[in-house]
Amino acid sequence: MHENAVDTDGREARIAEHIRAILAELGENPARDGLRDTPMRVAKAMRFLTRGNAETPASVVNGALFECPSDDMVVLRDIEVYSLCEHHLLPFFGKCHIGYIGKGKVLGVSKLARIVDCLAARLQIQERLTAEIARAVRESVGAEGVGVVMECRHLCMMMRGVEKQNSVMVTSSVLGTFRGNPSTRAEFMNFVQPSLAR
Ligand code: ZN
Repeated sequence: MHENAVDTDGREARIAEHIRAILAELGENPARDGLRDTPMRVAKAMRFLTRGNAETPASVVNGALFECPSDDMVVLRDIEVYSLCEHHLLPFFGKCHIGYIGKGKVLGVSKLARIVDCLAARLQIQERLTAEIARAVRESVGAEGVGVVMECRHLCMMMRGVEKQNSVMVTSSVLGTFRGNPSTRAEFMNFVQPSLAR
């Protein structure tokens, strides 16, 4: 979905009305020049930032699986993540690293990034997003094992509250052989480590 997608059901107009009311409650004058078009812009932006609600991992993968006889590990590192925390509606953003071992099948490489986008473009917490990505990859490719590591900065933490500006939250989810086999998990962490250290 593009941010300028057509608002067929009048939803953006209704969201904009609420944003206008919020601006007034914040002591702003929603009619002043700089704010006049803000409610509609915010409505469009929020719809775009939650576009993942209209998709599923299965719909974005859309069968883009390829036969591959090997059972070696595939790792995609440094996938950009942008999401909104469901507690404050503020962004969290960072990087995601995914590894999996398919059973004779691999996913088209762009599809890993599309799975991340589809699940991140919703109201989330980082822990759940990490687990959902792992589960989606496992189900999409029928993987015997999946590992996901995500490192994000949270604006709700950096701009308010404790104001810990340099802290990075790291979450992980390991499934199947990545959980049960220490050497598989170690191989994955070895691939991911150079990114974590940066
Ligand atoms: Zn938050």
